[in-house]
Amino acid sequence: MLTDYHVHLRPDEPGTTAERHFTAANAERYRAVAEERGIAELGVSEHIHRFYDALDVWDHPFWRQNAADDLESYVAFVREETDLRLGIEADFVPGREDKMANLLDGHPWDYVIGSVHFLREHAVDMPGAFDVWGRGDSAEKVWRRYFETLAAAARSGLYDVMAHPDLVKVWGRARPAPAVDPARFYEPAVEAFLEADVAVEVSTAGLRKPVGEIYPARAFLEMVADAGCPVALSSDAHVPEHVGHEYEAALELLGEVGISEICVFEHRVRRLEHVG
Ligand SMILES: [Zn+2]
Ligand SMILES: [Zn+2]
Repeated sequence: MLTDYHVHLRPDEPGTTAERHFTAANAERYRAVAEERGIAELGVSEHIHRFYDALDVWDHPFWRQNAADDLESYVAFVREETDLRLGIEADFVPGREDKMANLLDGHPWDYVIGSVHFLREHAVDMPGAFDVWGRGDSAEKVWRRYFETLAAAARSGLYDVMAHPDLVKVWGRARPAPAVDPARFYEPAVEAFLEADVAVEVSTAGLRKPVGEIYPARAFLEMVADAGCPVALSSDAHVPEHVGHEYEAALELLGEVGISEICVFEHRVRRLEHVG
């Protein structure tokens, strides 16, 4: 079994409207690439900040800029016009857990993907006005805050899968890296995943980013494997061609760390299937 659950039906750039991208024909383009690459389980997980309903959870300027769509219409589109699994990528906003739970409740998700892009007002993966880097905080501090937030996100119980679990490394050498062994950041995160019984995403998206490496790093994934946390395999595609992107590398890494099963989700119930 191969899966691709963390998939966006449109790029993040402005002008990528729901009208143009939430169509049966566009979903079919993703399905065609998945079939070509042997991916049986395909789902979508649009960014929650693109729905105006999410402004109730967090009124951040970036979210305000992007909130243009109706969540209910997205859910109805995926359910009624596609054969894709229904997911959502929902940021963790500390202190707003109840609001997020309210927003997520009452929709027939197959899975909810939790992600940490922001540390308070600033993002780890966004250049420009909202960049967390270059504000005087050390790399150690940024990494520590990132992994603390990730652990809190897992423990919130809001999510089925934790996305791109070491996203903080996205810039590679273009941003400072901590001088210490990153294991000290991974350990408490893995403890939180285990306690929360949440799945950990193995994402090939990092191979397309400056860091040029799968999320999570091998040492992190080894800890995940040793702890026995379930993993979910995804590409974080934002265009059809990226569905199943470089899965050969992901399968090799999974094999090397001794992971032979991946998660399959239906109506927020998880089961494990043999990978490959
Ligand atoms: Zn993300
Ligand atoms: Zn994503």
